[in-house]
Amino acid sequence: MERLGLKRDIDLALHLPLRYEDETRLTPIAALREGETAQVEGVVTDSRVEARSRRQLVVHLADASGELVLRFLNFYSSQQKQLGVGQRLRVRGELRDGFLGREMVHPVFKAVEPGAPLPAALTPVYPSSAALPQAYLRKAVASALARAPLHELLPPDWLPPGLPTLREALHFLHHPPPGAPLALLEDHSDPAWQRLKFDELLAQQVSQLRSQRERAALLAPALQDTALPAKLRAALPFALTAAQERVVAEIGADLARPRPMNRLLQGDVGSGKTVVAALAAAAAIGAGWQCALMAPTEILAEQHFRKLVAWLEPLGIGIAWLSGSRKGKARRAMVEQVASGEAALVVGTHAVIQHDVVFARLGLAVVDEQHRFGVAQRLALRAKLEEQSLEPHLLMMSATPIPRTLAMSYFADLDVSTIDELPPGRTPVLTKVFGDGRRDEVIARIRDEVARGRQVYWVCPLVEESEHLDLQNATETHAQLGQALPGVSVGLLHGRMAGAEKAAVMAQFGGGQMQVLVATTVIEVGVDVPNASLMVIEHAERFGLAQLHQLRGRVGRGAVASVCVLMYTAPLSATGKARLRAMAETTDGFEIARRDLEIRGPGEFMGARQSGDALLRFADLQADEAWLAQARALAPRLLAEHPAAAQAQVDRWLGAKAEFLKA
Ligand code: ADP
Ligand code: MG
Repeated sequence: MERLGLKRDIDLALHLPLRYEDETRLTPIAALREGETAQVEGVVTDSRVEARSRRQLVVHLADASGELVLRFLNFYSSQQKQLGVGQRLRVRGELRDGFLGREMVHPVFKAVEPGAPLPAALTPVYPSSAALPQAYLRKAVASALARAPLHELLPPDWLPPGLPTLREALHFLHHPPPGAPLALLEDHSDPAWQRLKFDELLAQQVSQLRSQRERAALLAPALQDTALPAKLRAALPFALTAAQERVVAEIGADLARPRPMNRLLQGDVGSGKTVVAALAAAAAIGAGWQCALMAPTEILAEQHFRKLVAWLEPLGIGIAWLSGSRKGKARRAMVEQVASGEAALVVGTHAVIQHDVVFARLGLAVVDEQHRFGVAQRLALRAKLEEQSLEPHLLMMSATPIPRTLAMSYFADLDVSTIDELPPGRTPVLTKVFGDGRRDEVIARIRDEVARGRQVYWVCPLVEESEHLDLQNATETHAQLGQALPGVSVGLLHGRMAGAEKAAVMAQFGGGQMQVLVATTVIEVGVDVPNASLMVIEHAERFGLAQLHQLRGRVGRGAVASVCVLMYTAPLSATGKARLRAMAETTDGFEIARRDLEIRGPGEFMGARQSGDALLRFADLQADEAWLAQARALAPRLLAEHPAAAQAQVDRWLGAKAEFLKA
């Protein structure tokens, strides 16, 4: 039970049935219909083990109306005894017209005395695990429900009209009376369910608001320096776009305040977020503080590292590199530089948040592709930042915009800056959808591009279940292209390669010595090779839209007209076709994210699914937006007028999860 998060009485009371079984009624055997699940009661008239194709227990059960066969393919000898002739049974199962006539295969049964009363409520079926039998869980829930404190926390007139009390709602949902509207219960549209959704959202809103206020009371170093950012600007080979200027100003104003910034910088792939981060880093470093930049993959972190070294090292800034592949002495040396403050900028992967990394004066933390980090990792980052008395400023970057409902709830205290314009001189990528029967045509196209001095990516699909298959696919494609393109340097990049190996391949491709790069999705984010003008994505139907968009963003980074070929393997479903067509129709990442969200739902955006912790159990941010709005309106009032009730609401609903929601 503990593993299912069922510790307190209230946890059990809030552990709600997935569905119900109706054991409140008996159906006469003669009235049973094929395919119907029902409960009958009768007496065993015959019971024997038969050896047909398999040993099986065949039991005849009769009531006043007729007879039925119960068939068990697996059984214990104890069950054989329970099913002996003369035994009165209550049996629940699905009727089918089998080989032996009307029968139930493996029905649920129990011995009863004549005239034993029927249960007064539907029987709940709870989410459970193999180790936890339903019968045990049912008893535990029923007794916890009787004990749990379920008094109303809100003043009665605050509750939206039409909702039952919490006590009524829970008793109803655990033990619905016979004839309760099962369809409404199972699709959660019943008022009792609505009450739970509202309460859960209220708890979540109160918790958000509280952590927002706690954070507002924290102090951060005021980071204001104009000299170093100005030097960096002067050294840049391009001028900032108007959108970049605007977000740089927004971030600069936050940094200059003695309150920790909590800002999301969103901008489409290729919109130029890195240079904005570099300018923020320069402001922090110029003011005498350190900056940490964390990216979700080694390749992406490495790209940032190169770019930042090129931009900032000439200005005399010490930069450290921390990643999973840097170990031992080299790592220790880096960690020392971070601790002494000699490294003013620290770039890396999750390695940046490991416990042995202690910053001398961390003033700003930048997290790239923040949604790719799990909730737990973001929490670890925050904990790391809390080690010093002043909080650092936090800048998160993402190419995936936050949907409105999420912004309203989880990210209520997040400020958002948006880069809504691409740097000039980009030619939009032309996207083509091909069946993989046209592979030869695609390879001919590669030959042309290479002949023109351009470079090509070939992305192989992710085979979810098997990293091994992934690799095999990429390796085969690599060999095939090598053969089909004599004289062309074809490289291979995949997730199993060691960091140094990957870096070497990327360096060759980046430097132009390699013309074609076959890769698994390790190149998904952040790789920047402006001379690449063609991207082929194999089995494009297996990728998410946002992922395809990220991948496609690897080309069209220079002035060269670029093409992205989405290759699919027939047959393609109607939705599959629609999705690839959507990709061909728009290059607007925000529009793509919107469509993607419709398909995947917001949970995935939170990174919550990966880490296995659903943040909301009952409410759905999109479907229950109306409740969300009400909860949002009530939360500040509850905190102000009934602080103890507000606290109790959070404890009741979130318990240990409250910490999680702060991430
Ligand atoms: P993303 O927002 O996807 O992280 P990057 O920061 O990697 O995008 O920028 C994409 C490319 O555009 C980089 O090569 C970067 O140096 C370049 N770039 C950024 N800003 C500008 C600009 N204002 N003018 C021209 N090129 C720019
Ligand atoms: Mg980027």
